[in-house]
Amino acid sequence: MSRGINRQWRLVAHPTGMAKKSDLEWREEPIPVPGDGQVLVRNVYLSLDPTSRVWMNEADSYMPSVRIGEVMRGLTLGVVEQSRDPKLTEGDLVMGLLGWQDFAVADGPSLSRLEKIKPLTAYLGLFNPIIGLTAYVGVLDIAKPKAGETMVVSGAAGAVGSVAGQIGKIKGCKVVGIAGSAEKCRWLTDTLGFDAAINYKTENVLERLQTHCSKGIDIVWENVGGDVFNAELALLNLNARIVLCGMISQYNATDPVAGPANLINVLLKRAQIKGFICLDHMDRADAAMTDLSRWLAAGQIKYRVDVVNGLENAAEAVNKLFDGSNQGKLMVKVSQEP
Ligand code: NDP
Repeated sequence: MSRGINRQWRLVAHPTGMAKKSDLEWREEPIPVPGDGQVLVRNVYLSLDPTSRVWMNEADSYMPSVRIGEVMRGLTLGVVEQSRDPKLTEGDLVMGLLGWQDFAVADGPSLSRLEKIKPLTAYLGLFNPIIGLTAYVGVLDIAKPKAGETMVVSGAAGAVGSVAGQIGKIKGCKVVGIAGSAEKCRWLTDTLGFDAAINYKTENVLERLQTHCSKGIDIVWENVGGDVFNAELALLNLNARIVLCGMISQYNATDPVAGPANLINVLLKRAQIKGFICLDHMDRADAAMTDLSRWLAAGQIKYRVDVVNGLENAAEAVNKLFDGSNQGKLMVKVSQEP
């Protein structure tokens, strides 16, 4: 990182299909100066998320889209370098939507102040709204699992899916994961304790689900959409719950996406389908972080992180989420840990 310079990625085109490096522009600008009530933060880790691609679209989603010319939006973990907010001091660790850049100026109240835990990557890997809270609220408040039920998780080896499935296990469910490689499937069963895993790239998902979910499916945790979702819908039990967390298979779609042919089963099985966005559930953040810490310490929750070195690599690294090459929570190391 050059002294005095703030390196940034700014959006210069709304992507068509996968984001291209040319949809973003590398800029070097002076480090900004905080005003009254503001702080200057040096970003240490930048979270790359499937929603990063959604935010790049021209159309607004659950948040306004990133406008052309703006610094690309992203959740970061950083260190306060200068403070003009009495509640924050130099050296404090903070989290906020500070973007794909080395430094950002932010209003103090827009940041969460964090303890210096080890490893620091746990904050973006697990203890944040986009990952831990999402899995926690989706499983406990929406799916409401009962011991003995069968839960199927798509995108199961990813950051959110892996935690959601493990919470399902903690609550006594039989959990079957669907993921895109033999290594990911082995990690789910051998390390995380999933009851079974299906490689959707090499196996017939419907047939494998019929084998592993012989009593049908009570809970669907949907991260993917498309054919995988359609296969899950075929096996719904009466009063099944479908937690619609994400539909990553269509985030890069350039043509209209067909709906699932088996949607009729939601009607026939009196199932519930619920979409949700973690940001609407911040009132559950304290409970989520307390329980996740306890489960992590007890070895009931495990997670892994995929750290790409260098802000300059962010524009290409984001596509690891879409080719499946990320092994756990994807993030970029922007600068040295404090
Ligand atoms: P992951 O760590 O799961 O990474 C994304 C994974 O998705 C890839 O590794 C890949 O795994 C899989 N994938 C990518 N493209 C496809 C495809 N076409 N078909 C099937 N699988 C695909 O990311 P996250 O855990 O951060 O996010 C998982 C999901 O959760 C996303 O849909 C995201 O949008 C959603 N989400 C929703 C939130 C909410 O508030 N509702 C909050 C946070 C995330 P593989 O190798 O298995 O193909």
